Amino acid sequence: MSDRYGRPLEDLRITLTHVCNFSCFFCHMEGEGLEKLQGLGLEDILLVAKVSREFGVRSVKLTGGEPTLRKDLLEVVRGIKGLGIGDVSMTTNGVLLGSLAEKLKEAGLDRVNVSLHAVSREKFREITGVDAFDKVIYGIKRAVEVGLRPVKLNYVVNKKNEDEVFSFLELAQGLGVDEVHLIELHPVGLGKEYFSYHEGLGKIEGFLKRNSRRVEVRNKHFRPRYYLDGGLVVEVVKPYANPVFCAGCNRIRLTADGKLKTCLYRDDKVIDIRHAFDPSMDEWEKEELVRHAFQIAMSIREPNFKYIYETRQAR
Ligand code: SAM
Repeated sequence: MSDRYGRPLEDLRITLTHVCNFSCFFCHMEGEGLEKLQGLGLEDILLVAKVSREFGVRSVKLTGGEPTLRKDLLEVVRGIKGLGIGDVSMTTNGVLLGSLAEKLKEAGLDRVNVSLHAVSREKFREITGVDAFDKVIYGIKRAVEVGLRPVKLNYVVNKKNEDEVFSFLELAQGLGVDEVHLIELHPVGLGKEYFSYHEGLGKIEGFLKRNSRRVEVRNKHFRPRYYLDGGLVVEVVKPYANPVFCAGCNRIRLTADGKLKTCLYRDDKVIDIRHAFDPSMDEWEKEELVRHAFQIAMSIREPNFKYIYETRQAR
């Protein structure tokens, strides 16, 4: 199904919990506020994922907070994969991935994005508040070994770490990951408070353009992808004030407090679906309520940044 702007729905991003074991100074909290919610129950998550398929969802991304802190994470993965969703992935800080990677693979997780915002231990601690660089590196290595591929690393570029971007690309090559995402700092959540740390990606993109053997534009968000000589793929994620990015958005979000959220940036285009989780209702009744919520969500969904145009009467 497509929205009024012709944008198809293909991707569901689920916030499994707000609880996190890191405290990244810029965290956008998926645009859900700073309250530390535990997240929805397994059955409610699966209900929404099941209905989402009818609307075109083919990929699910698990996020948080830190999704690996969910005690039932393997059941969540198994359940979603069991619905026939082709691509189930997770964004994680990677600190628990060393021990979980193999189990996640067995449960059906297809791939991971691991956030790694620094190359030096000191800077890593400064950004995340935790001295866990080595554990995260181990987690990344295990993800590569067990085949949670493509393994992608997320690097939120900001004034504290922009001097390490090129070392980061080298580190990523050395670790054997498939892809890195260089992400612009969004002014959402704590990112709004710390937006003075925003660093443009122009200089880095100039380097990538000069040093890539191929450049592609991905359907999702029309993100540019640069193919470096060593085999690493670098995707540049620049949503802020970017109508092109929004024009290619195919995503809807399920929040930890039971809402369908149509845009990271918007608190208004949100549908509360908690009434569909009433355990006294039949399954078909619940599905019908969620289906209705998806229909409304798709009808109100709109690009946050869009080109302004005027139509004038011919004289
Ligand atoms: N805890 C997990 C992690 O660290 O990946 C998942 C949650 S985190 C909110 C999801 C992704 O959003 C991470 O890659 C993180 O770096 C990115 N992110 C967080 N705050 C951001 C911001 N203000 N701007 C851009 N990206 C941000």
